[in-house]
Amino acid sequence: EALNKILDIKGTIRVFCRVRPFLWTDKIRDQEPVSIGLDRIVVRSSGSRKEFGFDKVFHQEANQDVFVEVEPILRSALDGHNVCIFAYGQTGTGKTFTMDGTTVEPGIVPQALEEIFHQVSLDNSSSFTFSMSMLEVYMGNLRDLLASKPAIRANETVARCNLNIQTDPKGLVEIEGLTEVDIPDFAKARWWYTKGKRFRHTSWTNVNEASSRSHCLTRIIICRRGDTREARPKVSKLWMVDLGGSERLLKTGATGQTLDEGRAINLSLSALGDVIAGLRRKRGHVPYRNSKLTQILKDSLGVGSKVLMLVHISPSQEDVAETICSLSFAKRAR
Ligand code: ADP
Ligand code: MG
Repeated sequence: EALNKILDIKGTIRVFCRVRPFLWTDKIRDQEPVSIGLDRIVVRSSGSRKEFGFDKVFHQEANQDVFVEVEPILRSALDGHNVCIFAYGQTGTGKTFTMDGTTVEPGIVPQALEEIFHQVSLDNSSSFTFSMSMLEVYMGNLRDLLASKPAIRANETVARCNLNIQTDPKGLVEIEGLTEVDIPDFAKARWWYTKGKRFRHTSWTNVNEASSRSHCLTRIIICRRGDTREARPKVSKLWMVDLGGSERLLKTGATGQTLDEGRAINLSLSALGDVIAGLRRKRGHVPYRNSKLTQILKDSLGVGSKVLMLVHISPSQEDVAETICSLSFAKRAR
């Protein structure tokens, strides 16, 4: 019983670390404060040595095969569990590379979309339907990335369209008016995903800066009908989240709008950390209400759901303080 409980906790929240390779933009490339093991990271800085354990660590040369380790959790989603996959880390550490990737090296979201359709093609005993939504959380506002109506769009760019979050009596979260499109196959799923990404980009003047100060969420609702005599289909949600940059504000010398945006991101990331730590304790109050992000994910981050946190770090000496912060966040979640 006790052992089962431990296994259950282990299986519920998993924390991976991915170290990005050195880039030509890194000023210092010969000093390596970060040592990488199979399941641990050691950071040396100003005479101290800190060690952090993970369920799995991906080193600089790991390619997008990282996805292999994500596959089991996708199967859980098809089996009816709610699943949340997060990319966490300082801006520039590879969150978007992991989640979205490139055309030649697709990341977790496009690979997951392909994989779920592959999986269901092998399953003769159930029938599945999928729908998809994409949204962005910016300064506590929710923006629908798949909305097609020009009126909504115009409104969005002016007023930063703010969708409401409702919780029904059963505890299910409903985002009022959020576009939900049917995705019958991988081609259609990829088409919508590309559209959502493009809208995210065109609605910002500086994409990289803006994406570091907002969270981008892709949601797949999975509806599974097993036996035809079964009255109700099994519904589960798969969330894939490219989180805003976790960097602290002092270092960047942010002011005004940028400072407010950074604060909003920091608050919601710490709210997410609190919720995950609360779930890990398996008792007491889980503080979902403290941010829009955790309110949206409330029904997908509870009992029976699975969480995969991918913490991204830089190998560089100049980022070592942020690296320690990110690893400490991970330690709390694990
Ligand atoms: P973030 O989304 O965390 O701000 P990005 O995903 O935009 O970071 O990554 C920053 C830069 O580093 C990009 O040019 C990206 O292509 C590159 N990069 C990040 N991780 C890797 C990796 N594992 N392999 C190769 N290039 C990477
Ligand atoms: Mg990014």
